[in-house]
Amino acid sequence: MRPRKVPLRKCVACQEMKAKKELIRVVRTPDGDVLIDLTGKKAGRGAYLCGQVSCFRLAKKSRSFDRALKAQVEPAIYDQLEQDFIAVEDEFVAGKESAEDDE
Ligand SMILES: [Zn+2]
Repeated sequence: MRPRKVPLRKCVACQEMKAKKELIRVVRTPDGDVLIDLTGKKAGRGAYLCGQVSCFRLAKKSRSFDRALKAQVEPAIYDQLEQDFIAVEDEFVAGKESAEDDE
């Protein structure tokens, strides 16, 4: 057993608790932009999603980001995020694997 505690976050779509590196962060910046934050370090209110498109689609359908980010997110933003999400999915999976190698 390793004593190190893994920080857990909840996916806004499926409500599962997962380690942060298993999740993709979506952030609402102080300027009001809503975007995907692969670094996890951008300033603003964040929401977490499993790194899989099915969870994004679920979030889009139930407008989970509106609640999680405490702001109304336009349908066009959801569409844009969905495209971005698909685009970063491979990068995210690759990054996750290399992070595991570091341990
Ligand atoms: Zn999920």
